[in-house]
Amino acid sequence: MTVGLAALESAAAALLPGYRDLVPLPGERDLNARVCSADGRPAVLKLAAADADPDRVELEDAVLRHLAGRALPVRTPALLDRAAIDVEGRWRVARMLTWIDGAPWTDRPLSDIDLRGVGAAVAALDAALAGFDHPALTVPHRWSMPAAGQLSFDPARLPAQCREFTVAAMGRFRNELGAALDRLPSQAIHNDANEHNVLVDDNGAPAGLIDFGDVDRAPRVCGLATLCAYAVLHAGDDVLAPVLPLVAGYHREAPLTVAEVAILPGLIATRLAMSVVNAVRQGDDDPGNAYLQVSQGPIRRVAPRLGEALGALAVCRLRDACGYPAVPESRTVVAWLSSAAADPAPVVAAARPDAKVLVLPSDADLTGAAVLPDGVDLAVGRYGEDRPVYTVDEFAGADGERRTVHLGLDLFVPAGEPVYAPFDGDVVAVAVRPAALDYGGTLLLRHETSSGAPFWLLLGHLAREVTTRVRPGQRVARGERVATVGAPDENGGWQPHPHVQLFTTLLGRSHDLPGVARRSERDVWQSISPDPNLVCRLPIEPAPAQRDRDWIVSRRGTNLSATLSLSYATPLSIVAGEGAELIDSDGRRYLDLVNNVAHVGHCHSRVTAALTEQARILNTNTRYLHPAIAEYARRLVALFPDPLSVVFLVNSGSEANDLALRLARTHTGRDVVLALEHAYHGHTSALIEVSHYKFARAGGAGAGPRVRVCRLPDPYRGEHGDDGVAYAEEVARHSHGAAAFLHESIPGVAGQVELATGYLAAAYAYARAAGAVCIADEVQCGFGRVGDAMWAFERHGVVPDVVTLGKPIGNGHPLAAVVTTPQIARSFVSGMEYFNTFGGNPVSCRIGLAVLDTIRDERLMANAADVGGHLAAGLRELQRRHACIGDVRGRGLFLGVDLVTDRSTREPASERARAVVEAAVARRVLLSADGPGANVLKIKPPLVITEREADRALHVLEGALTG
Ligand code: PMP
Repeated sequence: MTVGLAALESAAAALLPGYRDLVPLPGERDLNARVCSADGRPAVLKLAAADADPDRVELEDAVLRHLAGRALPVRTPALLDRAAIDVEGRWRVARMLTWIDGAPWTDRPLSDIDLRGVGAAVAALDAALAGFDHPALTVPHRWSMPAAGQLSFDPARLPAQCREFTVAAMGRFRNELGAALDRLPSQAIHNDANEHNVLVDDNGAPAGLIDFGDVDRAPRVCGLATLCAYAVLHAGDDVLAPVLPLVAGYHREAPLTVAEVAILPGLIATRLAMSVVNAVRQGDDDPGNAYLQVSQGPIRRVAPRLGEALGALAVCRLRDACGYPAVPESRTVVAWLSSAAADPAPVVAAARPDAKVLVLPSDADLTGAAVLPDGVDLAVGRYGEDRPVYTVDEFAGADGERRTVHLGLDLFVPAGEPVYAPFDGDVVAVAVRPAALDYGGTLLLRHETSSGAPFWLLLGHLAREVTTRVRPGQRVARGERVATVGAPDENGGWQPHPHVQLFTTLLGRSHDLPGVARRSERDVWQSISPDPNLVCRLPIEPAPAQRDRDWIVSRRGTNLSATLSLSYATPLSIVAGEGAELIDSDGRRYLDLVNNVAHVGHCHSRVTAALTEQARILNTNTRYLHPAIAEYARRLVALFPDPLSVVFLVNSGSEANDLALRLARTHTGRDVVLALEHAYHGHTSALIEVSHYKFARAGGAGAGPRVRVCRLPDPYRGEHGDDGVAYAEEVARHSHGAAAFLHESIPGVAGQVELATGYLAAAYAYARAAGAVCIADEVQCGFGRVGDAMWAFERHGVVPDVVTLGKPIGNGHPLAAVVTTPQIARSFVSGMEYFNTFGGNPVSCRIGLAVLDTIRDERLMANAADVGGHLAAGLRELQRRHACIGDVRGRGLFLGVDLVTDRSTREPASERARAVVEAAVARRVLLSADGPGANVLKIKPPLVITEREADRALHVLEGALTG
């Protein structure tokens, strides 16, 4: 038995009497083992090295204590017990930690791992460690990246394959990165998220992060660099490929600054170089420890490629992965080229801004002789074109993805045409591309914007004589002839054309600048090489980009707020709509029971015709006399009972409610608003304040001083059943000194709740008696949706003082309205103008009119009653057969199906509701679930839904409830 095993066994005996199944685990300095208690529960045993610094052992324990009980997306070990063990006369610290299930992430192919999740987990851990400190953290150790410059090594002793890389990486750290790190804040970091220490579950999701033995105080980007370094070692040809999702995941959880991103590739190289240097040392100190050398084989394999792979392009790719433009300087160059200050000369005589241009399709045959049709000055191969013609090996990209996206502008003109410099500049490089794929001469010019920002122009497929015409370092003048267009026999058989390409960075190179990019890197390369038509100024547009699902998901993740949610476990790519249906990018049709905005049917032709007709003629604001706004106001108020006769036009339901509160507050000179429990009225600050659904739930600040919440008069779950008058007592109690009583006429996010009988009438009476204004929010349920009336408040026999309208009013166009009394409107006339740039513009008003016409002419209110009644009857039938349906409620096409775990307790069946929604979408019916218990299926389709479609919905619901 080795000394190590014996020591582990005595440690196990001390900490876990009756232990069994001791299996040693790898470790750098500690002796580690998996061991089970007598009853079979696994734990980790760690025996510190004999010469371990007791302060560092204490540090490790302190970190584990700090993390214990914190909500992290991965598990970290908890310290269970600790003892001092005598091993051959020396005391060593033995600790027992919780065992964490999972496998090292490199046990599986990288493609199976949720790398974003792993990055996010490390970020969350860093965030949790940010508040931790310990005296031992001030002492750097051999894996402290900020101290990498102090690691001494003899280059001659480094393995030959890694020598050049290691020397270069360490040199760069000493010269540049160390100082950059000094400028970043430091904190406690794990510092060793290597392949053995990040555990993943069977689905490849991060499960645990272990081994806090290398904890350090350093800028957090050092720990991220360590994580990335080990991913690089397991990558395919494109060593950065796994790093991108790791960094994107980290950034999503704990956003990286541009300064951190800029040094990350260099720090990844530093960590790998540290590994090479430390392995040589550790090999000397502990020749028998194979674990210390595990990374060295992979490092030797990738080292020759690392200099390039972790260079300037890596920074661009990482910036893009984090949502920053790949090249920050690109913005300045593009702005200058777009400005009047830039005055480029034509690159070839035919390429003038007024040229007659033939745009070649992406699959055009670009080889052979060119024939220009009559009347055409030149043909062009567009920038951004995804060209299937690039199938030769030259265009094979790393990891098998071909480079097909054209980054230049090809100007097809006769061979021998002169090529001119568009601006004053310098020749950087001139060359003839090597024999195998002879693209003729290439010329790289350097120019500057008027503020001195450099940019470069690459001209390719030139006649070879370019090498005798200009020399590197030579100055050229705007409009000077610098080359000649090459003939097919000297440019690889392509039709004669200069390839014109811009560069906003040369990525530290002067050759090997690609003219085509991988589709997955389009955004990166289009930032490096912006549209060359900024220089050529031809009357053409760049080729549109085809964007796939993955691209949309990643862009949403970086350039849009994470607070935007997506519906369904597998989000849908919806690209079109028609009637009550939505159509996805594969042509699948879904019955839309969610979208009450598309009131008269998705993309109704009458509405789109009104929109396009008016948009073609005029769209301005309310400061001119246009008939549409006056006509629309007249038509709208005709739908309301007296005295509601003054309209304000705005752009969203939130704007409408926000204005309604201003009206009430101005009219009453008071501030406080009475609002209902579980209500939602909009997303502005003023509305979050009165929306219990927001302020009382995750992320909310609780009830503020300007709101008083009244219990929801919910006939199904409320304490007074359907006795509305009883609930209204609360309004009486709260309404003293209030400006307004605000309510949805059928609360939607509260779970499609029909207000208890008599509630509104009593509540209005109490509120008005106290001097408050009554505001009905009809944003969800107005415009005939309830079938028996235009407005849902009508059934309650009340007339509000203010009504707010939104969603369906513009059938998807941003239009909303406030309708009020002349008295309240008059109070608002205080000398301050009410101006709303977009509210009430002629296009919006024409759309509003078209919606009203369609509701009238297609008798959609009657359809809401008929089909809604049919649906409700079908749902009640389902309720008879499915015990999980506790309640079916609502009116017209505004229905709710309340799912419960038990009809007697009415306990919300949230999980069931979620499952039903998912099962329905799998069967192509779109539903949503809401309510405080997330258990109410909401049914509010476009009003054009037919009885047949309603039957399809019922059939699918039956299946979803059964399945
Ligand atoms: N009021 C109610 C009842 C709503 O349901 C909503 C939107 N869900 C709003 C107001 C806010 O409307 P918008 O999103 O158009 O601002």
